[in-house]
Amino acid sequence: MGGGSSVIREKRVVIVGCGYAGANMAKLLMGKCKVTIIDSREYFHHCIGSLRASVEPGFENKILVPFAQAWGDSFKQGKVETVDPEKNVVILETGEEIPYDYVVIATGSSGPFPGKLGLNVITIEDAKTHFKKIQEQIKAADKITIIGAGAVGVEMAGEIAVDYPKKEVTVVTNAENVVNGPFKDKLRDSIKKQLTDLGVKLVFDETVANLSELPKDGSSPCVVKTNKGTEINTDLVIVCIGMSSNCDAYKEYFADCMDDYNNLKVNQYLQVEGYSNVFAIGDCNDATSPKMALKAEGQSEIVAKNIKALETKGSLSPYKELTSIISVSIGRNGGATQLKAAIMGSFFTKKLKSNDMMYGKFWSLLNQKAPH
Ligand SMILES: Cc1cc2nc3c(=O)[nH]c(=O)nc-3n(C[C@H](O)[C@H](O)[C@H](O)COP(=O)(O)OP(=O)(O)OC[C@H]3O[C@@H](n4cnc5c(N)ncnc54)[C@H](O)[C@@H]3O)c2cc1C
Repeated sequence: MGGGSSVIREKRVVIVGCGYAGANMAKLLMGKCKVTIIDSREYFHHCIGSLRASVEPGFENKILVPFAQAWGDSFKQGKVETVDPEKNVVILETGEEIPYDYVVIATGSSGPFPGKLGLNVITIEDAKTHFKKIQEQIKAADKITIIGAGAVGVEMAGEIAVDYPKKEVTVVTNAENVVNGPFKDKLRDSIKKQLTDLGVKLVFDETVANLSELPKDGSSPCVVKTNKGTEINTDLVIVCIGMSSNCDAYKEYFADCMDDYNNLKVNQYLQVEGYSNVFAIGDCNDATSPKMALKAEGQSEIVAKNIKALETKGSLSPYKELTSIISVSIGRNGGATQLKAAIMGSFFTKKLKSNDMMYGKFWSLLNQKAPH
């Protein structure tokens, strides 16, 4: 936070949620003010590596980073029941109240496993059990259908196709292309080519019509049916669509500040509309699309500056959305990356991300040595 930080030394900042946004926020504020960081889980879930951990046995050990060794007593494990902006307290499920001068809401988003783990998966052991189970299911299945061709769906297909070249992998999407969003067609073309070269079948512009009836736990074979009459015999269905913001902690007092997707509405300084001392960062706010860890980290930097500015009567910094940046891995050696106007292929993407899914960075962020 630089000079003037003594002014904020006595200020109590509570960070609700310790994903990419919250963890980076904690790193920026730790030692500069009185920080409490709260998460319902006992571990940081590096979900960027989840799809590798669904296929490669042992990789699950690299993407679950314990909070216990990260920040000592500044970390508190527990579900936040509500943030009360009238009393300026965060209230835990246990009834414990934690007062704040500033609160940073970073409760992120949920989606289907294996991209995300359920919020009820509290212990590392439980999380590991989930990954070991899907590793076995993928190994046992001959025909796998992935629903959704966003970055998560295509990365899932790539992980399976690279490690199990004989399996029949099909990706079904109602979109007309892979990885929709503000990206160049050259990026999409590269991803499509890499997947089809691996034997992955891509079905575009078709909606799965029997989604609610499909077994999502791999318990039995099924037929995936689309609105256009396509039928795909499948041993295992993996759903890679349907993210939503985790709003349990704020829906009580901030209902008027939520959009239709349960995101908290923030102003350009990332303050929740109508509150100068309540910030929201990462997937749970309405500032970004598509939502990304990279942007969540950038937002924490803006909020660190703005808390200081509020205490020192400085000017607030606006958040500027990063667009045209994405890195999509296709197995551990492939993928494509867009950095502004430039599209890079497998060689660059392997170095940046695919080789190890960047897991080491997050062990460092949480002050620990990464396992090999
Ligand atoms: C499979 C996959 C791959 C991805 N790959 C990339 C990538 O390569 N690059 C990229 O930039 N982005 C990627 N993303 C997107 C990225 O993961 C998200 O944008 C990122 O997780 C957002 O971080 P966050 O901190 O806002 O939320 P989250 O990571 O969702 O963290 C939220 C935290 O809040 C906690 N929490 C929630 N509610 C409560 C509560 N009531 N009380 C206490 N704690 C609570 C949760 O336990 C969790 O730890 C990927 C996403 C997925 C699913």
